[in-house]
Amino acid sequence: MITRHFAISVTSPGTILRRERDLGTPLGLEADEISKQGGLVPDDIIVRLIEDWLNLHGQDGFVFDGFPRTVRQAERLNELLEKKGKTLDLAIWLDVSEKTVRDRIAGRLQCRRCGFTTSLTSACFAERSICPYCDGPLIRREDDDASVLQTRLAEFKSKTEPLLSFYEESDALHRIDGNRDREAVFADISALIEERK
Ligand code: AMP
Repeated sequence: MITRHFAISVTSPGTILRRERDLGTPLGLEADEISKQGGLVPDDIIVRLIEDWLNLHGQDGFVFDGFPRTVRQAERLNELLEKKGKTLDLAIWLDVSEKTVRDRIAGRLQCRRCGFTTSLTSACFAERSICPYCDGPLIRREDDDASVLQTRLAEFKSKTEPLLSFYEESDALHRIDGNRDREAVFADISALIEERK
């Protein structure tokens, strides 16, 4: 929604890694072994992917989804931005309950080609699982599984939650109630982006 509305490039390490896995590259296959179990991929690998992406895109702004996920990654991102003479305008923390997470992953459908994400409860996609943007197949993710989720939540608690205090020290952090529908969440995020245009 951010890309379409504001024409800002968006990327996420998860999308890049799934593409690498589908291409069968050594990196994609190695990372997949970790992701399948719900673990986080080592910081050095993730930062290299983001650095490569930034060298090719993001001249007119960018959004990272699911990055940084550790304090080390956040420190490395600051170093990367400093080298490019840029600063971080916004760090958005979506507050969601464990119930919301469970409900959403139980019905999540994702386009294998472009990453567009929707839900099985969206009737038109349940019947015709084709991406409306690129005609790719909408599939259930292998790691959207109740037992893998336990590990993903534990990784989040121990490695990602400390980022809250990391970013609280800067003015960039904004917390948004992510338990609401996507239009309400998008409206809040849009307002934050508009303020910085
Ligand atoms: P996502 O698509 O954001 O849910 O990410 C899927 C999987 O990719 C995660 O469970 C991790 O294994 C890996 N991954 C994505 N982003 C990161 C990151 N910033 N740091 C480490 N691993 C990541």
